[in-house]
This record gives sequence, structure tokens and C-alpha cells, in this order.
Amino acid sequence: MSLQYRSTRDLKANTISASEAILKGLSADGGLYVPTSIPKIDFDLSELPGFSYKELAFRILKLFYTDFSENELRKCIEHAYGDTFDTNLIAPLSFHGETGYLELFHGPTIAFKDIALQLLPHLMTTAAQKNHLQNKIVILTATSGDTGKAAMEGFADVDGTKIIVFYPKDGVSFIQEQQMLTQKGKNTFIFAVDGNFDVAQTNVKKLLNNEELSRELADNNYQFSSANSINIGRLFPQVVYYFYAYAQMVKQKKITLGSAINFSVPTGNFGDILAGYYAKKMGLPINKLLCASNKNNVLTEFFNEGVYDRNRPFYVTSSPSMDILVSSNLERLLFYINNEDVQATTELMAQLNEHGKYTISSEIKNSLSDFFAAFADEDQTASEISRIYKLDGSVIDPHTAVASYVAKIYEERHSDSTIPTVVISTASPYKFPQSVLIGLHDPAAFESGFIALQALKKKSNLAFPKAIEQLLSKQGSRAKKIISSSDMKKAVKGILFKK
Ligand SMILES: *Cc1c(COP(=O)(O)O)cnc(C)c1O
Repeated sequence: MSLQYRSTRDLKANTISASEAILKGLSADGGLYVPTSIPKIDFDLSELPGFSYKELAFRILKLFYTDFSENELRKCIEHAYGDTFDTNLIAPLSFHGETGYLELFHGPTIAFKDIALQLLPHLMTTAAQKNHLQNKIVILTATSGDTGKAAMEGFADVDGTKIIVFYPKDGVSFIQEQQMLTQKGKNTFIFAVDGNFDVAQTNVKKLLNNEELSRELADNNYQFSSANSINIGRLFPQVVYYFYAYAQMVKQKKITLGSAINFSVPTGNFGDILAGYYAKKMGLPINKLLCASNKNNVLTEFFNEGVYDRNRPFYVTSSPSMDILVSSNLERLLFYINNEDVQATTELMAQLNEHGKYTISSEIKNSLSDFFAAFADEDQTASEISRIYKLDGSVIDPHTAVASYVAKIYEERHSDSTIPTVVISTASPYKFPQSVLIGLHDPAAFESGFIALQALKKKSNLAFPKAIEQLLSKQGSRAKKIISSSDMKKAVKGILFKK
């Protein structure tokens, strides 16, 4: 039987197709969809360096999206990875010192979420056709800054869709907020929520699972879906670039074919790094996945102590896309380390829901050996930005700096290892100019976002990407709409059901 999807919380193990899972986003029982088995790659590793990004995307994604025809999948990929990226490599690999940096910020919103979100709308509209959907799709998304913009950019003016984005009112950078407020598209809607990202995300999940609201939507020919990284349409496009990074390491003669490498991944919702875990299980030679956190180091504690405890202060940091205390995608990892035991996974998630905390047994903890976890606090993040600048004059963004710092810690602790590390570089430094300038001890760090942008350009000699040029030229910014977190449902109804 070909690969299907089931929920991490469904004891009966009911299955649905990939296209259905893409349309649903989250399972009705609150669980996340996982494939009935993790596929192995069906090509030889030696073929990897010969694949273009698009060809590789096709080879990987056809293993997951098994009910899409070859033609459908190729068309989606063709639409996604075209000229909205500023390089046809899509994900180029650069080096600072001996360490590789996989640059995932060459898309329209200059952060790595473009890689999945340029593709998702096409997967979703194709899935809607395949399933003879009559309803309009309503994308409901909570964002810590990057997802919201990237999702709106992907869905803007896509027929048969509307997208509603919620972001924490004080939790995103100036540039991130400006990017969202200047979004085009009659079908895009944005609200600033009085609360942090976890509040916004928890409420979005509640809305997605609210049966009464779903019925009301259906009565008006709508249905919800999710563009958050819990959607399998987001998750698996991210597997592709792990393979692509490996291929470039071989091509640039940094490794020989078949030898293992590490990836250091700046982690928030655990989507990006989980894609790396899938890549490893599919047959990519990965030694360790380095789970890099900022001061909100709930995951560092989980990997090192076996305790997940969200009862802790929440910090707004210079890497806001990682300011998360409830990492949604970790549920999928729990499912795997518990040997796909639905009951055990459900119980852990219930504990998290009730007590904000759970502990895994030492036996289960042993199966976390694919990972190494550490974090960078704010000073360490800033000093890492400075270290790279002194090394070769390059500027890296704070999220990348967190992963770069953790890669350094790993190397210090394994000084005898010859295994190279690739840092996943998730955003352009221009997305967070003030934080980057703090790392560079530049007083313009304390100026407005626009002045900071110019100062960073001077310091880095890096041309502005298209996204920034547009931001600087674009007028007609929308007004910021702030709502209370308890009014999110009202806001959704106001958009969908107005007479
Ligand atoms: C979303 C994001 C991350 C974290 O990715 P997750 O999949 O949530 O772990 C890291 N860096 C940037 C720039 C992001 O936008």
C-alpha cells in the first residue's frame, strides 16, 4: 500500500491521503499528521550532486505526497522555485571559516519559511481540486514574525483562498511588522494580538478545532486550513534542502560521498530541525542534528534532562522567530522516540496541556542520541555576530548566529572530531538590522529601522535584497490593528461573515 497519513493521537490509526492531510493541516483530535512509514530515498546518493533544486524537490516530495501525480507535483514545484528567488540555486552554501552556512533566505520575504510557503499554496489548491472541494480555504496562522509574511506572500490573491494572520503585538521586529503591514492581496488580513506568540498560537489551534465555528464556516462555504509548520505541506519541502546542502558539500569537495555531516539548526517550533530528522531517517548521512535555542531554552533542557517544562519566564529576544515555549512539532518527535506509540504520545501532550510539563523516561531519552542541544543567550548571540564579522567581514542574522554559536560549542566539546558542520542560515541580516548592529557595536542600532538598514548596508557592503528595496519604496502601509487575544474569534467572524 502506498504511504498514507495518520494522527499522532489516533488510537484507531485511521489513515488519510497526503492531499487530505495538506487540506486539514491539524488532525481533529488535536494530533499532527505523520506518514504511515518514513520513506527511504529511491535514488543513489551518488546521483545527488547532479540534481537541480527543483529535480531534488520532486524526487523527495513524490515519496511523501503519494496521491499527487508526477505532473501535478512538478507543476507545483515549477511555480514555487522560480524567479521569486534571487538565485536559481534556491539554497546556496557559503563558508565562514571551515563551517558551511546553508543560505535559506533568498526568497521573497528573505527568511527560510519561503522555501515551504512558496510551495504550500500550490500544493493546497491542487489538493483542493483533487478532493473536489467546493469550499473556499481559510488559512489561519499565528506567527512569530516570519511565517505570517511568508504565508501571505505565498497565498496573496490565490483564487479560492483567504489568509488571516495573528502576530504578537510587541514580539516581532520593525522590519517584520513593516513587511506584513505592506502586504498586497485582497484576501490577506493581519492582526496584532495583545499577548505573546504562544498565546496567539494556542488560540489559533483552538479556533481550528472549534466545531461550532467549523460548522458556521461550512454553512458559508468556507473551511479552515493551516499554514503553520504543523502542516505536512510545510514540513516535507524542508527535507529537500538538507539533501541539497549535502550535495553541495560533496560538489565543493568538503566531504567525500557517504561520509556524515552535522547540521546546526536554529529552532523554535521544531519544524526545520524535524525535517532534518526525516532526512536522516530517509538515508542522508547525518551525524548529529544540533538543536540551537535562544534564551527561551526549553528545548535545550528537554534534550539534556528529559524534562519539557513551559512554566518559565518568556523572553523577547533578538531572534524573535525562536521565542517559543511550546514547540508544536516536537509532538512528532515524541511519537517516533516512543516507537510510534499513540497512547504514550497522547498522554505526554495531555500532561503538557494540564501541567505545562512532562518528563520522559531515561530509556526513551536514550533514543534522542541523534541530537545535541545547546543555547545562546543574548550576549552570546551578539558576540557570535561580531566573531563572524571579524573573521571575514560577513554579517549574519541573529537566528543564524544562535545556530553558529551552538555549532562552535559542539566543536569545542568534540575537538577530536573531523565531521564538518553546516549551519542552517534562516534569515537575511537585513531582516533584523538593529540586532545585527548591536552585535557590530554600531550606534545606529538604536536608530529607527530605516536608518539602521542604511547603516548595515554601509558596514556589510551587501546590496539590499528585493524585499528591502520594496519596503523602502512602498507606501500605502495598512494601519496596525491591535486586538485582545480573547477577540481572535470575533476578528475571524468579522472577516468571513460580514454581510
Ligand atoms: C521560523 C524561524 C526559525 C525557527 O524554525 P522552526 O521551524 O520554527 O524551528 C528560525 N529562524 C527564522 C529566521 C525563522 O523564521
